[in-house]
Amino acid sequence: MKELKKPELLCPAGNLEKALLAFHFGADAVYIGGTVFGLRKYADNFSLPEIKTLIKHARQLNKAVYVVLNAFAHNDDIQPIIDYLKELDALKPDAVIVSDLGVATLVTNYTSIPLHVSTQASVSNAWGSLFWKNHGAKRVILAREVSVEDCKTIFKDSDIELEIFIHGAMCASYSGKCVISNYSAGRDSNRGGCVQSCRHKYNLSDPKTDEKLGSEHIMNAKDLMGIDQLPSMIKAGIASLKIEGRMKSNLYVANAASVYRQAIDYCYSCMKDNTLIEQEKLNSFKDQLSWISNRSFSSGGLDHRPFRDSINYEFTHYQKKVDYVGCVRDKIGNSIFSETKINLNVGETLLCISPNNAPFSFKLESLHNSLNEQVDKINPNSIFRFDNQKIDQHSVLAKLINN
Ligand code: SF4
Repeated sequence: MKELKKPELLCPAGNLEKALLAFHFGADAVYIGGTVFGLRKYADNFSLPEIKTLIKHARQLNKAVYVVLNAFAHNDDIQPIIDYLKELDALKPDAVIVSDLGVATLVTNYTSIPLHVSTQASVSNAWGSLFWKNHGAKRVILAREVSVEDCKTIFKDSDIELEIFIHGAMCASYSGKCVISNYSAGRDSNRGGCVQSCRHKYNLSDPKTDEKLGSEHIMNAKDLMGIDQLPSMIKAGIASLKIEGRMKSNLYVANAASVYRQAIDYCYSCMKDNTLIEQEKLNSFKDQLSWISNRSFSSGGLDHRPFRDSINYEFTHYQKKVDYVGCVRDKIGNSIFSETKINLNVGETLLCISPNNAPFSFKLESLHNSLNEQVDKINPNSIFRFDNQKIDQHSVLAKLINN
């Protein structure tokens, strides 16, 4: 039996700030998009100098950076991709994530960057993994429709690093291969332009009687949450657990990284020491994940092929228990300097999500604006100061809704 290995925690980073937040909150690695070919046209994305800066930070922290290059290429894309790859090669990221066979060939021919095969390549069996292994891939990110049980066999039979998604928004299509957005809005989902047509309302009626059938939200996938499956993922030898969300907020990145860091460490140490993994503890992780906006959760394809219970027929909006306030920018003595994106008033209760401590709530006893004047309220998009001994730098603040 292979030795139990702690899987890597891989977090999304839409920009440099989010990448550093993910590292502070426990990510072992981040995946980022460059300004081209990264399937998230509307995320901030990284220029080449920004990628260089991030890689420098990552090296200092002993963390990894993977660059996503997973759009499907057309013939006219080839020369720009070659030019881009040559520049990327000089920066030495830890991997590029690719789905297109042609782009994968360019990566192996023109660079020495390790190749990770994107989930968009829909690898769902050991033969697919072996194919990619024989064509130079270091890691395969399996299709989202592959169960943890199947991962176990795929790893045993192909012996290549495997990565799977553990958390985040899901697509109603097979491994993200979908053209509804192209047809309904003229935006290509396979080149980063998806308008999320699956979240829209649709009328389903009997053509003979015009009778309305079922729900209006027929393709609205719930978000994935894999806390309960974490012990089997570790047992299956999966090398990397990935959180979706390069377009999500600082709060989402910090909270998801923090929860999964704790959950992976907890489950791994219980399994190593042969002690009981307490369901109550797993439930507390799930509860913290549900604070941040979500479309309700399912285990997607982790236990079995996704089916009815992976779709949210009730609503398409997000539900959440907290609003994002901002990131702590500095701490001098007990004085905390933070940004706020929303209105704040003296006496309100905030929540602190910290990279070093369990989350805790506290009351804003007094407030100072950026001119250091004592005030009763702070307007959105400003810097404010308050005193708190417990809060540390890099913490993220949120406001409990309806407190
Ligand atoms: S429209 Fe929905 S199912 Fe299709 S690619 Fe976009 S998010 Fe996925």
